[in-house]
Amino acid sequence: MREYLPEIVKCVRCGRCRTVCPVQQVQSWEFAGARGRMQMAMGLASGLEPSAGMIKNILTCTTCQRCVTECPSGADPQQVTRAARHKLVALGHATPHQLEMQERIRNTGNSLGDESARTTWITGPRVLGESGYVYFAGCLASYRYQSTATATYRILEKFGVGLLEDEQCCGSPLFRMGLDASELIEHNSRQFREAGAHTIIVGCAGCYSMFRERYNGFDVLHLSEFLADRLDELSLSHIDISVTYHDPCHLGRTYGIYDAPRKVIEKVCTFVEMKASKENASCCGGGGGVRMGYPALSGSIAEELKNNIPDGIDYVVTSCPLCFRNLSDTGVKVLDLAELVLMAMK
Ligand code: SF4
Ligand code: SF4
Repeated sequence: MREYLPEIVKCVRCGRCRTVCPVQQVQSWEFAGARGRMQMAMGLASGLEPSAGMIKNILTCTTCQRCVTECPSGADPQQVTRAARHKLVALGHATPHQLEMQERIRNTGNSLGDESARTTWITGPRVLGESGYVYFAGCLASYRYQSTATATYRILEKFGVGLLEDEQCCGSPLFRMGLDASELIEHNSRQFREAGAHTIIVGCAGCYSMFRERYNGFDVLHLSEFLADRLDELSLSHIDISVTYHDPCHLGRTYGIYDAPRKVIEKVCTFVEMKASKENASCCGGGGGVRMGYPALSGSIAEELKNNIPDGIDYVVTSCPLCFRNLSDTGVKVLDLAELVLMAMK
């Protein structure tokens, strides 16, 4: 943790992040926000014994990056908070929900702890990576939103995109919660190499950022990026609906993927921008293990996001199954980008 001191001391405690941190907005408490987390990280780096309150506040960051884009000092509270999580686990302070996630993945290879086969959604033949492109479905699409996985693969198989023999969780939930994901990284990397993949295509923002940040030797594309360059090859018709787009934090603020999903949406239906979007987009509240560990907080953040949805639209489109899940639970009508495109292909 001491190696993060140069990052921690960048914080001049100006408080600008307090106005944007979605957790602090809901909880109205200094230590629920980025500035407070920087102070707690300083305490940890100085050898302070963590209290139960400190552990909870370190774990309630959704890793949304709003503080990072707002900070006038160029500090990265999100990265510092993640390091603090790893430190807390190393000190033996893993919480029951962190240990449960570890067990689920250890026992089943997926973040849901689902013991059924990962590939029940695949109905047709599977091309195995001859194009060098592989679709990585991720845990939520494989087990909870299989229509999203099916839609994505039905689109991608037209381009000869393959699937892995034995996909397992990308490791994002473990890594973001401060746990060790090295075995999963090794397993999936081996699978990619054996499939002859040079490019991984994902439909999940969490998988995308995990591959970009922790895997080496492969290019990574979000589905929206892959499709935005190939729209003329898809014979798309116009659908008579009006949608807005929710920018997932780990695609938008983290990697600046704003134009590709909008280009795809505008090709197939009427698009209306959210009231706050792109780098100012609201967090859905699901990331960083918050949905699992602190569901009430996660739901309150999702409720706040609803204030940004423009009137008169039919769906909120997103390109992350975790955003899909958290927003759907508030009663919002959500559509995954892949399903929208498939509707236009019919
Ligand atoms: S915006 Fe940056 S410098 Fe200001 S309090 Fe937050 S982390 Fe510290
Ligand atoms: S990453 Fe998001 S939730 Fe975490 S401290 Fe920054 S603004 Fe708050």
